[in-house]
Amino acid sequence: MTNIISGKELAATMRQEIKEETARLYEKTGKQPGLAVIQVGENPASSVYVNNKKKACSEAGIKSFGYHLPDDVTQEELLDLVHTLNADRNVHGILCQLPLPDHLNEFEILRAVSPQKDVDGFHPYNVGLLSVGKKTLVSCTPAGILEMLVRSGIEISGKECVIVGRSNIVGKPVAQLMLSKNATVTVTHSRTKDLPAVCSRADILIVAIGRPRFVTADFVKPGAVVIDVGINRDDVGKLVGDVDFEPVSEKAGWITPVPGGVGPMTITMLLANTLEAFRDINAVS
Ligand code: NDP
Repeated sequence: MTNIISGKELAATMRQEIKEETARLYEKTGKQPGLAVIQVGENPASSVYVNNKKKACSEAGIKSFGYHLPDDVTQEELLDLVHTLNADRNVHGILCQLPLPDHLNEFEILRAVSPQKDVDGFHPYNVGLLSVGKKTLVSCTPAGILEMLVRSGIEISGKECVIVGRSNIVGKPVAQLMLSKNATVTVTHSRTKDLPAVCSRADILIVAIGRPRFVTADFVKPGAVVIDVGINRDDVGKLVGDVDFEPVSEKAGWITPVPGGVGPMTITMLLANTLEAFRDINAVS
């Protein structure tokens, strides 16, 4: 029988652990971790993400500071805010909700965030540390995927891991993480030849492409672990992943659902990274 990996349940356990840890650190230092959340414009999806993040912070004992800027904010104004937050002692994590409007240079904004406060793990310095196998703040979705595998007791070392998608926020960093855990890693993308054949080699298949139910049972080796990162609406508006859940779950050994899989772990890792940045900045353990 297939094991469903419930990100929702794992996230609830981790959030409780984080809450207890923030309370312990408050007793010890009199300080509370703080996360600054910057949103530009009125993108409705961004508003939902930002509100979910602020709510999760408050439940975990992390202060959140919201900065909602108008759509026509200039690059200089946004950079000024980032520099101010870099210097703010009450702020330990800074996140800039993506996507930003086209007139803003996303790379330069992310590069302006202090690497110590880069709780999204997008700063090139932190990306570099990850790629040379050093401890750093790791991008939340990949970190959440690793946490799910580890907490589910899934062996990674020596396994064949195939990743579908090579984005900077999921595919590439999750490849680095899996490599750091001694998996044999293959990264695939839209130009990969015979994708089903490549995927069906995988003991662990991680899919992050943004195509509803794209991965069918033909892609999956019997007993494989299938991690579905995708969040899509299908033709009738239902929230679905990149994996065709029903048939694939009959063949896989382990599978994450959508919703309730990778999504809740992503926000949880944001809390974990903010706590980590707080510890690092205050040199407290
Ligand atoms: P991007 O659009 O940045 O990247 C998509 C990747 O998928 C690209 O590398 C692209 O290849 C590849 N791809 C697209 N079509 C195919 C195909 N037919 N065959 C093989 N590869 C293909 O997406 P993201 O990584 O940002 O997000 C992917 C999905 O994950 C989305 O549904 C997103 O909503 C979801 N997501 C979920 C999160 C969560 O917390 N659960 C967090 C982040 C994302 P190429 O490079 O060649 O173009």
